[in-house]
Amino acid sequence: YNEKVKSVDIPEGYSGEGFFATSFDKVIGLARKNSIWPLPFATSCCGIEFMATMASTYDLARFGAERMAFTPRQCDLLMVMGTISKKMGPVLRQVYLQMAEPRWVIAVGACASSGGIFDTYSVLQGIDQVIPVDVYVPGCPPRPEAIIDGFMRIQDLIGQESMRRRNSEKYKDLLNSYGIQ
Ligand code: SF4
Repeated sequence: YNEKVKSVDIPEGYSGEGFFATSFDKVIGLARKNSIWPLPFATSCCGIEFMATMASTYDLARFGAERMAFTPRQCDLLMVMGTISKKMGPVLRQVYLQMAEPRWVIAVGACASSGGIFDTYSVLQGIDQVIPVDVYVPGCPPRPEAIIDGFMRIQDLIGQESMRRRNSEKYKDLLNSYGIQ
């Protein structure tokens, strides 16, 4: 320990090099939230706002999420942007199922969140009809600031949640309610 604090009463067993003590969950949460690998599932105009979010002015890389991939097995955040037709629903669900646990989902924009202006027979009225959603970003389209805000909410969620949450009975019940085993 520092010479200057030698005179301070140091409890027995606490002198020496020092150490950090924290819970393993918190360390894992810190690492996970700052190294998210997103999968952009963009079908229409909201995807263009996402491109702006990735570009230099907004630069999502600042949040440790510049590593985009289009293979579900390498991603832990599914970002759904755009109008999702009912025909596309099973494809989206398949992509979600191919992602390993733990995985998170953001519905970016009105269409992904609720069908938006397309209240028609052919459009899914929100992706939460086929997969669980963690964060909804409003807007048609949402500005990059709103997408970043949604992303930061996901980071909060990831940082705080227990490693075991995704295997918890509660989460399994949620998946079961979507018909996912
Ligand atoms: Fe396009 Fe608006 Fe739908 Fe986004 S929410 S995909 S901007 S119509």
